[in-house]
Amino acid sequence: MTASRGIGGGAYARARQRLVKSLAHQAVADQRVLAALGAVPRHRLLPEALRERAYADLALPIGAGQTISAPSVVAAMTEALELRGEESVLEVGTGSGYQAAVLARLAARVVSIERLPRLAADARRALDTLGVTNVLVHLGDGSKGRAADAPFDAIVVTAGGPEVPQPLLQQLAPAGRLVGPFGAREEQALVRMRRTGPDSFEREVLGRCRFVDLVGTHGWAA
Ligand code: SAH
Repeated sequence: MTASRGIGGGAYARARQRLVKSLAHQAVADQRVLAALGAVPRHRLLPEALRERAYADLALPIGAGQTISAPSVVAAMTEALELRGEESVLEVGTGSGYQAAVLARLAARVVSIERLPRLAADARRALDTLGVTNVLVHLGDGSKGRAADAPFDAIVVTAGGPEVPQPLLQQLAPAGRLVGPFGAREEQALVRMRRTGPDSFEREVLGRCRFVDLVGTHGWAA
């Protein structure tokens, strides 16, 4: 990275630390989550033209009509997964790869599924460049989960669907958590499901949010 266009690496790092400090003052209490957000260079997962806005707490367009969630939303969803370091995590909706890079620092391994080939390829390349080795990006319909790699201790869905996809619930490990936005296209409830038994789940609503569509068999029609 050079300072010839936009701000230099040091300025990005300082902006990132300011952002993390402000998230700590808001609602984020988990120090590991804050440390992960402080370590992942979000600007390097964004299109060049948007890099200078990487450390404002904003959702930003990443191409193909998709968006990278605001850092505060990534923090809240990650915190809700209650990761301790040993988990196997599924992410539905790789997008830029930012959420995956954050998860990679907090869990043992991350399987991330993206339905759009270009985004999957770009995210894979960006994660490689960052030296992230414990994320596998797969192309496909993440609303079906990934039975081959199940069970997952935690699942995060980063696109909004009409309801929690049944296959994802079935792929949760005992006591596993699933966090994602579900409800109408215009606005969703940010929901956490916790597996309490073979066929029982506890459901909590963590807030209201608006995400791009989860498109697939257990999401909206394309
Ligand atoms: N987690 C991302 C944000 C992604 S935006 C990040 O950190 O940048 C939501 C993403 O979900 C988009 O890239 C969209 O293409 C993808 N998506 C939507 N439906 C999907 C599905 N059924 N399977 C996999 N990816 C899906």
